[in-house]
Parts: sequence; C-alpha cells; structure tokens
Amino acid sequence: MYDVDLFVIGAGSGGVRAARIAAGHGVKVALAEERFYGGTCVNVGCVPKKLMTYVAGYESSMRDAQGYGWDIGERTLDWTKFITQKNTEIERLNGIYENMLENAGVQLHWGTATIIDPHTVSINGENITAERILIATGGKISVPDIEGAREHGITSDDIFYLEEKPKTLIVAGVGYIGLEFAGIFNQLGTDVHVIYRRDTILNEGFDGDVRTFLHQEMTKKGLHFHPKTNILRVEKTDKGVTVHLDDGKTIKADQVLFATGRTPNTNNLGLENVGVECNKGGAIIVNKDEQTNVPSIYAVGDVTDRVALTPVALAEGHALVDRLYAKSNRHISYENIPSAVFSDPNVSQIGLTEEQAQAQYPDEIDIYKSDFRAMKMILANSEERTLMKLIVHSKTDKVLGLHMVGSDAGEIVQGFAVAIIAGATKADFDRTIGIHPTSAEEFVTMRTKSS
Ligand code: NDP
Repeated sequence: MYDVDLFVIGAGSGGVRAARIAAGHGVKVALAEERFYGGTCVNVGCVPKKLMTYVAGYESSMRDAQGYGWDIGERTLDWTKFITQKNTEIERLNGIYENMLENAGVQLHWGTATIIDPHTVSINGENITAERILIATGGKISVPDIEGAREHGITSDDIFYLEEKPKTLIVAGVGYIGLEFAGIFNQLGTDVHVIYRRDTILNEGFDGDVRTFLHQEMTKKGLHFHPKTNILRVEKTDKGVTVHLDDGKTIKADQVLFATGRTPNTNNLGLENVGVECNKGGAIIVNKDEQTNVPSIYAVGDVTDRVALTPVALAEGHALVDRLYAKSNRHISYENIPSAVFSDPNVSQIGLTEEQAQAQYPDEIDIYKSDFRAMKMILANSEERTLMKLIVHSKTDKVLGLHMVGSDAGEIVQGFAVAIIAGATKADFDRTIGIHPTSAEEFVTMRTKSS
C-alpha cells in the first residue's frame, strides 16, 4: 500500500540509528539527508570537537612533561595539517555512515525532504509514500539578534574550518559549546575572552560547586571571564573584529564565536502541511512513544524538546523502532542521564545537583566532597585541582548525584553511572576497594560529610 514502511528525515545520530535498526528488523526504510551523513555530532559537533580537545591537550601535556624532566624544544602546531587530518577523518566517518545504511538496505535520498501529507514525503520532485515518517533533523545554531553578530561572528559550524588559529578569540555564551572552545583555544595559546550575561558559568543543570570550581580552574589557566556582560555590537576591522560591550568596553579579536544555544531544525519540513504541533521554542511535541499529534509521524533527538545529547537521540531512535517493528515495549529513561563538558578541565555528572536534591528532599541530603591536586600535577608544577562530589539521600543512603571537575571526568563518571543507575548506596561506594593510585578512587574513599 505504501512505497516504504518508514521514511526517516535526517541522517544524524537518531535518524541513522533508527533507519539501520528498522531495516534490520526487516522493514522497508527510506532516509533523506540534505547536508551530511552523521549529522551535527560527526561533522560539526562531538567528533571534531573531541579531536580538537586532543590537539589542545598535547600542548598541556608537553608543558607538564617539562616538570618531569622532559626537555621539549620549540613546539609548533601546523594548524593546516591538523584541520586537513580532521577533515579526512570526518570524511572517513561520513563514508562509514553511508555504507552502514546501504549495507542495512536503507534506500538513500540526497536532498531536502518535505512532508506533504501524513503519509507522503516529497524529495527531489518525487513523492514517496510511507506508513510512518520519522523526523530526526536535529538542531541548528542560534545567534542572538545583535548588530553584526551574524555577519561578522562565527559559530560552531564555522570554527572547525578556520584557516588560521586565532590569536585572540571572544566567546559569547558559557554553556557546553562556549566553555569547550574557550578551553581548547586557551590551551592552544589563544587569548580567550568569555562574555556572558549571568554571574556564573554553565546553567542550573550543573551543581553550584561545580560551576564555581570550574570557573576558578579556568581562570587560573588564563581565561578572561566577563560576567554580567552583553555584547552590543560586532564591528568588522582590517584584522578581525571589535566587540562593543554594554559596560562601555571594547575588545578586539581575530574571531568572535557565538555559542549561544541551538534550536530545533524544522526548516522546510512542511510541518504546516500536516499540522504537526511544535512548542513555542519551535520543538516538535511528542508523547512518550515519540509520536507527534499526527499519528503516523514521529520525532526523535534535538528536533524535540527533551535532552539534546547524541546518545539520547540514538537511544530514542533505537527504542522507537524496536517498539514499532520488534515487539519491544522498551522506553528510554530520562532520569540519570550522564553527560560531560569537555572543557579544560572536564566536567562530568550524573543525577541530581545539590540544589535539585535539596529542593526534592529538604534536610535529607548529605554531601561528600573531595577537592585535591591530582598526583600527576605535582611534578608537573601545575596548580590544577580536581573536585569530586557525592550527593546522598540520608534516609535511604542512595547516591542521588555524582559530580566531577578534573582530568578524564567523562571517562570516570561513565563507569560510576552504571552504579548510580543500579541504585548504589553510599555504603556500596564505601565497600568498593579503590584502585590505587588513581583520582577515581576518591569517589570510594570519601568518609566525612561536608554538610
Ligand atoms: P547552552 O544552552 O548549553 O548554552 C548557551 C549559552 O548561550 C548560555 O550561556 C546562554 O546564557 C547563552 N545565551 C543564549 N542566548 C543568549 C543571548 N541571546 N545573549 C547572550 N547569551 C545567550 O548551549 P550551547 O550552544 O553551548 O550547546 C547547545 C546544546 O548542545 C547543549 O545544551 C547540549 O545539549 C549540546 N551539546 C552537548 C555537548 C556535550 O555533551 N559535551 C557539547 C556541545 C553541545 P543563559 O544561560 O544566560 O541563557
């Protein structure tokens, strides 16, 4: 009756996973993509960003190594070589994604897909009918309406393709993206100014101690933070940009990066043709089954207003097609989703912040904290410190939240995340023998309540 069983729009994390798994369940799947295989994460997000944290991390390692006796001569970074190598790797991954879809038997369409009725998608002048349509078009960069921002500023879509490493960089925004690039370029020797309208970095989804501690650590590393400050105007100059601030100051820089959030990408989807409902931020509204108000149309990932993280989109897409085509009744849980900010130092967390825990369980919260200089930093002559924090429910002894600021925080918290999801208590942490000497062992050796 229909040309295909499932038509997926968007070859990013959620769309590719859903298409591939659905095809594996034996249904006929088509997928449309207009920009790149792998979506934001592979092309202008997680993957190239992580490669950048590595290139920047070598600089710090070489500096620290000198404290251990290494004689490191002059060190230079061939920026063009790095960007070329990075592009080659991204192209390799694009190919892997495309092959993976083809090998799974997914019918691929290159172009802009528009929904014209609840069971029809139009692409490149062709109408394809589908029993179900899945929208997985992700998010797009949001730049505030500031004079000169769009014309003369750059975004995280551009920063991966800079021809030269900036000597001075202004970063607007102190969320994930802003702090990650601020850390990367600071490590690479760029003079970085961070402009933000709050008085604290990160947002309320992060523990208060984590926010303060990260700010201290990043300040020690030489970043210039400008809290409670707004950009009024960005002006182009011969050498770069001049940014005019609302405190009357101006800062000159080679580039200004707007890391001011992302919005759902519903461009040209034709949602108005079928009456798919969106919230006021433009995100597609879905029920717990990932279904929109039009029963044959589903949506997963950043185009919906849930948790904008790659692994969440993957999990949503996977669970959806398992339910639709493999008799599963599994839904993903939005509780206890671990995440990391690859700032310098890294931040990672799972569960409740102290503020959230206090609000949920007033006067029933115990806090354990460890703030220390990791062993590696001592001979390196580095003042970098690490913070680890546990939030425990005093009535049940359950660990409600686990937070870290420090080297490899994401790697460490990923392991502990399993324990938190399994409902580990503080007593479980206490009876776990530490692996010595590591930083991670601090999580199992905290004995004194800090409040
Ligand atoms: P965030 O929402 O994390 O941060 C946006 C920042 O921009 C905040 O500091 C915000 O300030 C500021 N901002 C927003 N609008 C304005 C404005 N009009 N004027 C001035 N400042 C403004 O967004 P990001 O862009 O950093 O990242 C987008 C999403 O991508 C993240 O939420 C995350 O889900 C995902 N991501 C995840 C990563 C990871 O897992 N490591 C890495 C990168 C992205 P205020 O708080 O005052 O509103």
